[in-house]
Amino acid sequence: MNRKHNLYIKENRTFAKRQNVCMIQVLKNYFGYEKFRPLQEEIIQHIIQKKDCLVLMPTGGGKSICYQLPALLCEGTAVVISPLISLMKDQVEALKANGIAAAALNSNNDETENAEIKRACITGKLKLLYISPEKLLSEFDYFLNNIQISLFAIDEAHCISQWGHDFRPEYTQMSILHQRFPQVPIIALTATADRITRDDIINQLRLKDPRVFISSFDRPNLSLTVKRGFQQKEKHKAILDFIDKHANESGIIYCMSRSKAESVAQMLQKHHIKSGVYHAGLSSQQRNETQSDFINDRIQIVCATIAFGMGIDKSNVRWVIHYNLPKSIESFYQEIGRAGRDGMNADTILFYSLADLILLTKFATESKQQHVNLEKLQRMQQYAESDICRRRILLNYFNEVSNEDCGNCDVCKNPPQRFDGTVIVQKALSAIARTNQQIGVSMLVDILRGSFSADITEKEYDKLKTFGAGRDIPARDWQDYLLQMLQLGYFEIAYNEKNHLKITSSGSDILFGRSKASLVIITRTETITKQKKKKVVVEKELPMAMPAIENENLFEALRALRKQLAEQEALPAYIVLTDKVLHLLSISRPTTIEEFGNVSGIGEYKKNKYGKDFVEVIRQYEGVV
Ligand code: ADP
Ligand code: ZN
Repeated sequence: MNRKHNLYIKENRTFAKRQNVCMIQVLKNYFGYEKFRPLQEEIIQHIIQKKDCLVLMPTGGGKSICYQLPALLCEGTAVVISPLISLMKDQVEALKANGIAAAALNSNNDETENAEIKRACITGKLKLLYISPEKLLSEFDYFLNNIQISLFAIDEAHCISQWGHDFRPEYTQMSILHQRFPQVPIIALTATADRITRDDIINQLRLKDPRVFISSFDRPNLSLTVKRGFQQKEKHKAILDFIDKHANESGIIYCMSRSKAESVAQMLQKHHIKSGVYHAGLSSQQRNETQSDFINDRIQIVCATIAFGMGIDKSNVRWVIHYNLPKSIESFYQEIGRAGRDGMNADTILFYSLADLILLTKFATESKQQHVNLEKLQRMQQYAESDICRRRILLNYFNEVSNEDCGNCDVCKNPPQRFDGTVIVQKALSAIARTNQQIGVSMLVDILRGSFSADITEKEYDKLKTFGAGRDIPARDWQDYLLQMLQLGYFEIAYNEKNHLKITSSGSDILFGRSKASLVIITRTETITKQKKKKVVVEKELPMAMPAIENENLFEALRALRKQLAEQEALPAYIVLTDKVLHLLSISRPTTIEEFGNVSGIGEYKKNKYGKDFVEVIRQYEGVV
């Protein structure tokens, strides 16, 4: 008995081992990667055993492979339910580019196209079928009768929950899947981690005894920077400087309003920077156009409201700027997550101003869920005002404790230094006191700076003793100091009283010399050192201990070839090869097709399809031919 049992275990282990070898082989053959990311392997095994699960991973974390690989390993067709047609298109193109039979069934196709796709499903030729929830419901009978389904994957599964930010009513009818197909495993995937949404997904999908896989939400390749107190002109200058240092790099600028998105795009266009606009006020045709221009690198930048980005998997977005403060860490994290999906370094910048804070507080106060929304905004504020490692604040928000500073945020790079700012604080508070606490932030700055305006002369604020008392400090620094003072609790904003500033008791202590105020020195240095950072990420993926020396000319030559191939096939460049693969190629410089195939991110299909062309360019460069 015992021997038999041992034998059984041994056999099982060998089976598991064999299966692992097989999984790695499939990973390399189709996707070109040597290793799984944390949790991917476990999730895949779970699905292969026909068990349900919920997967929480940040945007760019590598969710797709969790269902795409089981789809390849199991018999039949995997049905992927996805809310957006553009997203399906992107995924299907990426799969096909890796030689995997996939298609999307949706209302954008014509009837013949859809009929062909269905036939391919019935004959078992498709490994993955993408479909929208409404289309799935209307085609349900056909599914029941005709195709062998290997698994259901519910992408963007948070759309099920009314509590989430992208609620879609059609998603709530997905309980039908398990009712009709109790044997087919369901994998639900999302980047939204809060508990209510999680429970909602499990309940509504009727998941059976599901395992919940939560991966780390850390995205160490994203740098985090906050710029405090900038006014419009300074923001624009900072953005232009940034873009200048990041020539040819795709980026997104998120704005709070449609009109802001448009004016920022106009500003960029005036400086001959190719940019587009994306917001809910545009027609769907206009939006699709912007999206497609961005994906195909015809424009470098998209200025958008929060509506943009869910529908794309563009892997080489190199930076995300928040022109305004987002209303919650969830939105913020999802938006910055759209940068650096290929794992290469990417930068994120948030502009934090008092004016935004005041406006968002107003919105939150007037909203239905006042309490929750104010709380969320406060957590966002905490991130923006942090003087400890910002990544720790983010991870802590997602209930992840990290004991180390990240070294890739502005606080880590330039730890805040303090000075005795008592006099500065006194000047500001004194101006507030002398107006009988009847002014808001911008009036306060005008008084301190001694700027004349109709409002000031009318109210005779120019006669105040403090008028012009802070002339030596630029307006943007005043904005910064005022944010610090708010954070330190020296004054409050009376949101119900035209946002006038009210001195608190600890503010009075400073004003009357009873205690001292310590402020953070304002530094305006640019901390992003582009080249150095890129190497760090790539080095880990090189086949041997190879020095990560990259030649820019070769990189550009490879990039030009990628562009040409992409245009021939009418595909986005990042689907042909990712930026990361291009960097790896220009460092490791393979001169045979076999070596080309060894590079991380190149599977069999791409090796055979593109190897010759790329190797030729490299050989020419190396003087081999
Ligand atoms: P998500 O859907 O979670 O936002 P994706 O599935 O699009 O993320 O994956 C993000 C990027 O990471 C893609 O470029 C993908 O090819 C890459 N990736 C996924 N798994 C691995 C892996 N095991 N090794 C290397 N890269 C990977
Ligand atoms: Zn940090």
